[in-house]
Amino acid sequence: MTQMPDANLLESLRQRLGPKGFSGAPEDLSPWLTDWRGRITGKAAALLSPSSVEEVQAIVALASQAGVALVPQGGNSSMVAGATPPVDGSALLLSLRRMRAIRSLSGDDNVAVAEAGVILSDLHVAAEKIGRRFPLSLAAKGTATIGGLVSTNAGGTQVLRFGTMRSLVLGIEAVLPSGERFDGLSALRKDNRGYDLRQLLVGAEGTLGVVTAASLRLFPSAGSRAVAWVGLADPQDALTLLRRLEAATGESIESFEIVSQDALDLVLRHISGTRAPLGDRHRWHLLIEATAPEGAADPAETLTIALHEAVEAGLIEDATIAANETQAQSFWKLREDISEAERLDGGSAKHDVSVAVSAMPRFLDEGAQAVEQRFPGARVLAFGHLGDGNIHFNVRPPVGLDDKAWLASEGTGVSSFVHDLVGEAGGSLSAEHGIGQLKLADFARTIDPVRLAALRAIKQAIDPKGIMNPGKLIPPA
Ligand SMILES: Cc1cc2nc3c(=O)[nH]c(=O)nc-3n(C[C@H](O)[C@H](O)[C@H](O)COP(=O)(O)OP(=O)(O)OC[C@H]3O[C@@H](n4cnc5c(N)ncnc54)[C@H](O)[C@@H]3O)c2cc1C
Repeated sequence: MTQMPDANLLESLRQRLGPKGFSGAPEDLSPWLTDWRGRITGKAAALLSPSSVEEVQAIVALASQAGVALVPQGGNSSMVAGATPPVDGSALLLSLRRMRAIRSLSGDDNVAVAEAGVILSDLHVAAEKIGRRFPLSLAAKGTATIGGLVSTNAGGTQVLRFGTMRSLVLGIEAVLPSGERFDGLSALRKDNRGYDLRQLLVGAEGTLGVVTAASLRLFPSAGSRAVAWVGLADPQDALTLLRRLEAATGESIESFEIVSQDALDLVLRHISGTRAPLGDRHRWHLLIEATAPEGAADPAETLTIALHEAVEAGLIEDATIAANETQAQSFWKLREDISEAERLDGGSAKHDVSVAVSAMPRFLDEGAQAVEQRFPGARVLAFGHLGDGNIHFNVRPPVGLDDKAWLASEGTGVSSFVHDLVGEAGGSLSAEHGIGQLKLADFARTIDPVRLAALRAIKQAIDPKGIMNPGKLIPPA
């Protein structure tokens, strides 16, 4: 049980951090108290914005002494309200946004050391300047920070080839709930000294400590890329196509995204300047990206031949390859703006689920049928990372009903139903976004007791006072 922050603690923090690092002003706090989806608004007596690891240590030590909770926050782009403080005002908001130095970039080691507040797109630009790339990318790249990406084990659109954040993190520096600094930044490629605290911190959603910096893997810049848009009838055929393309192009396929016709229609309706890449309508669409390093053969040619053969074989209905970078970006915009188009259309019950890659085509069909049978009129909107077995399986209200009212009355039931379907298919109710607050109830309802006991034991061992981001991720006793 944590304590409410009192005037003594706030004054100590104010003195230690100064005016740039401490604010209790409502106008400074209010932009950061509501989650990105606008579902939950919390309360906090202060926004703490340290500019160094030493300041983070001082904050955590003072909070620990007082038994007061801290909510770490980066860009606040969490889809599960993971960085939103509790509504009772019992926690202080700890923003890492001022810690935005890229401490080093090495082409020899292929490693970048970036502080927690570095914005993902800034890291992309910095890496490109030395002929390297940091391959993780997602639609929130202009907002999401390295600390948030590490703490949610973010995925994105390049997981197929490069894995999630977990496989891109070589080292982590963090402040543990005691206020001590854990220096695990060393970017050793091999290090078998037992339990890996760095990997425990990846995906911990701020419940085990504050990530202050990470050593991250870099790769050679892409010399060329080919982006294709495909129309087809059946997701099973999409998987057959994926395996064929992998065989034809070696390792170069890095994105394989599926978009339903309904999702494409929403973008075309709500996002200005967008147009459909293909002339006809298709039940499903694919966005495929292949890249090759400098000096290697342009993947466009192999992709064109492979897609042509797939049309001839009746596997897909139509396909086009972006003629230039502008067109490639316009294809990606259609994919990346689906969430925004959905929001503009009135919202949906959102689910970010995974099943085995081979089980996804069946899940897409049977899951949608089951939802639409159980909630008559509800409309499933599916899109996402088919190549990773990870789909955004969202459910929109029936046409003609008040969206907000329907989501308020049916949303929780819809989500429990979808999560149970995913469980029955052997999948996960959180493929990418984490548990945060919004998935905690279903996670608690469905978690395997052995896993729960281990989760709680780890939390208790590292954060015995429970001051790090309480109410997120760990189901309450
Ligand atoms: C339009 C859009 C598209 C998205 N697409 C994807 C996607 O494709 N794949 C994907 O995985 N996610 C996606 N997300 C979700 C989101 O961008 C990621 O979860 C991202 O990692 C959050 O980064 P952030 O800096 O905004 O973290 P925040 O939202 O601020 O925090 C996220 C969590 O991390 C914790 N945290 C933040 N910083 C630290 C730190 N320094 N130390 C310890 N804990 C910390 C917070 O307490 C919270 O639990 C998307 C979000 C949006 C809005």
